[in-house]
Amino acid sequence: MMKQYLRFKADYPDSILFFHLGDFYEVFFDDAEVLSRELDVVLTSRNGHPMAGVPVRRGDAYVGQLLKRGYKVAICQQVEDPKKAKGLVKRDVVRVVTPGTAIDDSLLDAGMNNYLAAACRPVGEGRIGLSFLDLSTGEFLCTVADSIAAFRGEIERRDPSEVLLSSGSQEDGLAELLEGRVITRVPDSSFTAKTVRYDGLGADELALRAAGAISSYVADTQKAVQVHIRSIRPYSISDQMDLDPFTVTSLELVRPLRPGEKKGTLLSVLDRTITGMGRRRLRKAVLAPLLDRSAIEERLDAVEAFVGESLVRAELRELIGGVHDLERLVGKLGAGRLRPYDLFLLLKSLGAIPPISHGLSEGLTGAGPLPSELKRVKEALDDPDLERICTEYAGMLIDKPPVDPRDGGMIRDGYNQELDALRGEVRSLRAQIASLEGKERERTGIPSLKVGYNRVFGYYLEVTRPHLTKVPPEYRRRQTLANAERFITEELRSLEEKISLAEERAKAFEVHLFDRAVEALRGAIPRLQAVSDALADLDFFLCLADVAHRNGYVRPEFTDGHSLLIRAGRHPVVEQVEEFVPNDLDLPEGRDLVILTGPNMAGKSVYLRQAALISLMAQIGSFVPAERAVLPIVDRIFARVGASDMLVAGVSTFMMEMLEVAAILERATERSLVILDEMGRGTSTFDGVSIAWAVAEELARRVRAKTLFATHYQELTQLADQIPNVVNLHVAVKEVGKEVVFLHRVEEGTAEGSYGVHVARLAGLPEHVTEAADRILERFLADAPLSRLGREEKTEVLPLFGTEDHPVLIRLKKLDPMKMTPLEALQVLAELKERLVEKRREGDE
Ligand code: ADP
Repeated sequence: MMKQYLRFKADYPDSILFFHLGDFYEVFFDDAEVLSRELDVVLTSRNGHPMAGVPVRRGDAYVGQLLKRGYKVAICQQVEDPKKAKGLVKRDVVRVVTPGTAIDDSLLDAGMNNYLAAACRPVGEGRIGLSFLDLSTGEFLCTVADSIAAFRGEIERRDPSEVLLSSGSQEDGLAELLEGRVITRVPDSSFTAKTVRYDGLGADELALRAAGAISSYVADTQKAVQVHIRSIRPYSISDQMDLDPFTVTSLELVRPLRPGEKKGTLLSVLDRTITGMGRRRLRKAVLAPLLDRSAIEERLDAVEAFVGESLVRAELRELIGGVHDLERLVGKLGAGRLRPYDLFLLLKSLGAIPPISHGLSEGLTGAGPLPSELKRVKEALDDPDLERICTEYAGMLIDKPPVDPRDGGMIRDGYNQELDALRGEVRSLRAQIASLEGKERERTGIPSLKVGYNRVFGYYLEVTRPHLTKVPPEYRRRQTLANAERFITEELRSLEEKISLAEERAKAFEVHLFDRAVEALRGAIPRLQAVSDALADLDFFLCLADVAHRNGYVRPEFTDGHSLLIRAGRHPVVEQVEEFVPNDLDLPEGRDLVILTGPNMAGKSVYLRQAALISLMAQIGSFVPAERAVLPIVDRIFARVGASDMLVAGVSTFMMEMLEVAAILERATERSLVILDEMGRGTSTFDGVSIAWAVAEELARRVRAKTLFATHYQELTQLADQIPNVVNLHVAVKEVGKEVVFLHRVEEGTAEGSYGVHVARLAGLPEHVTEAADRILERFLADAPLSRLGREEKTEVLPLFGTEDHPVLIRLKKLDPMKMTPLEALQVLAELKERLVEKRREGDE
C-alpha cells in the first residue's frame, strides 16, 4: 500500500495527497506534518513515519482550510469496492483541488465568482494575454491587456484565487505584479491556442494562449470532462469603465477602506439580490460600469419598469426566492458531481421558472411592451424543452434525498411502476419474514420466539434461554447472547437472500433513474445556463429597482457633452446611517475643476465621493441618490481619497501619492471624472501647496477632466482667478461663539480659515490648550511665510506656476513617471523643490 501511495505522491509532488483508506483520508510524511501544523490534526506514526488522518465525511472542510492557506490537495480515492477487491484496493487520483478550481459550496463564497486566471507575456511582447475561468459556473473569458495598468485593474476586478504563469519564457516579469496571490507555474508549452475550443472570430491569439493554459490545467487537475465550461468569450477591457485598484478602494465599492471595518460599501447598499447568480451579477456590474450609452439606457429601462410596480416586484421576488444557485448547480452537473439533493434543488428551481416568466409578462402588461432587456429575459426563461424535462422529473425525488445515490430511498413511490414493483417485492418478502414469527411460534410451541435483524448477522430467530430445549433440530445457531440464542433456518436464509437481491435491484434501479435524469439535464446544459443567466439579470434588475424605490433614487439622464449637474445629491452609503444634507453639483461646459475648501470634518470627502458614486451608479444602470442627475458618460473615474492612510511598506505615503497622481495625469481624459482629496498632505506645507497647485492646474488647463479637488490649502482658491474653468466651492460652517457647527452644506466661494483649532476643541482638547493654539494661530496668520505666499505676495510668486515656461513645469512635463523608479522620482522631486525655492528667492529679491 505504501508503494502505491508513493507512486501517486511522486505524480503530485506539490499537492497534499489525501489517500482514501476506509473511512479516512490518510496523509503521510511531510504532508502529515503540514496537516498537523496548519490544522491541528493529530500526528501519529505508521512504521515510524509521520501520518495523520481526517474522516472522509469531513474531507471537504479540511480541503477548504488547506486551500485557504494556499495548498493544493490531490484526492486519491478507492475506485473499487474494497469488499470485492482482490489484493490491494485499486485507487486513483480523481481530482486535484486547487484554490482556482474549487467547486464545492463549502469552499466558495456565494456572492463572488471564484476565478482561475492565466496570464502570459512572451518575450518582446508588450501586451499581456489574460484568461479567466470560473469552474463553479463555467464562465470562461479571455482578453488582452494593453498595459500593466490595465492588467492590474483587471486582476483586481476579478480577484482570481489562483493565477497560472508560465515557468518559462512567456512569463516575463508578471509574478511581481501579482504579489500576495497564489501563483501556479505551468509548462511554457501549455500556453498555446491550439488546445482551445474556439470557433468564433475576433479573439486575439495572445488571449487564446492564456486560455490554452487554463484548458490544459483543468484537464490535468479535474480528470473528468467538464461539460459545463462555456465556449470561451473574448472581451475587451476597454468596453468597461476603467477603474483602477485605488479608485475601487477609495470609493469603498466592495470593501471598506480600512480592512476589517464594519462599514457599509456601495455593494452592501445595493445588494438586495436573492439568488447567488444575481449577487455575482451585481458585484461584477459594480466593478465594471458600462461605457455604451444605449446599453446603459436599456438597463435603466428594465429597472424603471419595476420601480413603480411594488406589487409586481414583491411577487417576482418571492417567486425568485424558490430558485437556488442554478448556475452553480449546473456547474456541479457539468463536472459530474451532482448529488441527489443537488438534483432536487435543480429541479425545484426549474419548476419555479414558468410562474416567474408568467408573472413578468402579466405583471408589466399595463406599461406597454416589455423593455428590451426584459424581453430578452423572458425569451430565455420560456424554454419548452426545459419545461418538458422538468415536468418529466419533477416528481421523482423525495424532499430530503440522501447524499449518496447508492444509499437508495431517494425516489418517490408512485414515480415509476417498475421501481414500485421491485419495492413491492421487497415489502412482500419482508411481510413473509414477519409472518414467520407466528408460524414458527405455533410450530415449535415457543411463545417468546421473535424474528429480528441486525447488520452483522442479518435475519435471525431469537429464543430465550428457558425455551432452548424446544428448539427444533433444523435451527442453526448464529449468535449467543446472555439470556437468549439466535438461530437461522433454511427458509429464513433463502428469504433473506431474496430480500437482499430485490433490494439491490431496487437500489440499482433508483441509481439508473437518477442517472437518466442527470443525463437528460446534462444534454441541456447550454439552455440551463441561458436560463440561469436570464434569472441573474432579472434578479439584478429587480434588486436595483427595489433599492431605487426604498431609497428614493431617480433615473439619471445623460448628456453627450461634458456638462454635469446633480441636484440634491446624496452619498448612498452615508445617508443610510445618518441624517443627510443633500448638495448640488453644477459643472456646465467650461467649468471643469472645483477647488473645495472647508474645515476638517465639514463633509468634503463625502461630497467628493458622492459625485463619483452617483456617476458610477448611473453607468451600472442604477438609479441614483439625487433629485435630478444629468451626467456625461465618463470613461474613467479616478478617486484618491484617504491616500495618506494607505501605507505601503518601503514607499513613503507621499511617494505613493505622487506615483498615483502621476498615473492620473497620464491617463485622465476630458471625459474622465477625477476626485482628489487633500492631495499633498504627506509632505511639508510648501511642497504640498506647490505640487497641489501644479497638479490642479495641469488637470484644469491641459486634461480638462471634470475634477473635484478638496484641499485645506486656502492658497489654491486663487487658481479660480487665473483659470476660467476653475471654480471655488466650500463647505459651510456656522460659528456659534467659540464653537463650530457643521452644516454640511456646499456653497459657492471660499471658506474662511481651517477651523482646525475648533475641531480640536470639539474633540475635547483641554480649554487652556485650545486657547493657546488660538493665540499661536493668530501669530502665524500675522507673519507666517505661508500667509505671505498666499495673500500678499501672490503676484510675485504664484504667476510662476501660471506661466507655461516655468522651468519646473517644463521639467514636469517632460517626465514620464511610469518609467521612473521610486528613487529617481524622489530625486527629481528634490531637484524640483530646490528650483522652486531658488525661484522664490529670485522673486523675493
Ligand atoms: P472632511 O473630508 O471635510 O474632513 P468628511 O467628508 O469626512 O469631512 O465628513 C465628516 C463627517 O461628516 C462624515 O463622516 C459624515 O458623518 C458627516 N457628513 C459629511 N457630509 C454630510 C452631509 N452632506 N450630511 C450629513 N452628514 C455629513
